[in-house]
Amino acid sequence: MDHQYDNGSHTSGYHNGTEQSSGRRYYVRPKFCQFCVDKHLAIDYKQADILRRFVTEEGKIRPRRQTGTCAKHQRALAGAIKRARHIALLPFSGKSFEEDR
Ligand SMILES: [Zn+2]
Repeated sequence: MDHQYDNGSHTSGYHNGTEQSSGRRYYVRPKFCQFCVDKHLAIDYKQADILRRFVTEEGKIRPRRQTGTCAKHQRALAGAIKRARHIALLPFSGKSFEEDR
């Protein structure tokens, strides 16, 4: 049997290994606490722009797993968000009205 090699006869576009694993189009989850990484980023209840990154569209505080915030800063963040709600910088979640006093 004379089996010939066809070398270079099939030169069609052959893509190999273009695997896309990023199917989700959700919030990009950082691996580290953003406040620990960025020293200039301060948790301030007056900075609604920053706080908004850590609440959902419904106004609820995002869980740490989503934001990557460490426990220490998550606590400070939660306090700042609650303050911001009281001065109407952020919407209430409508779920509960918390009075600390
Ligand atoms: Zn932190």
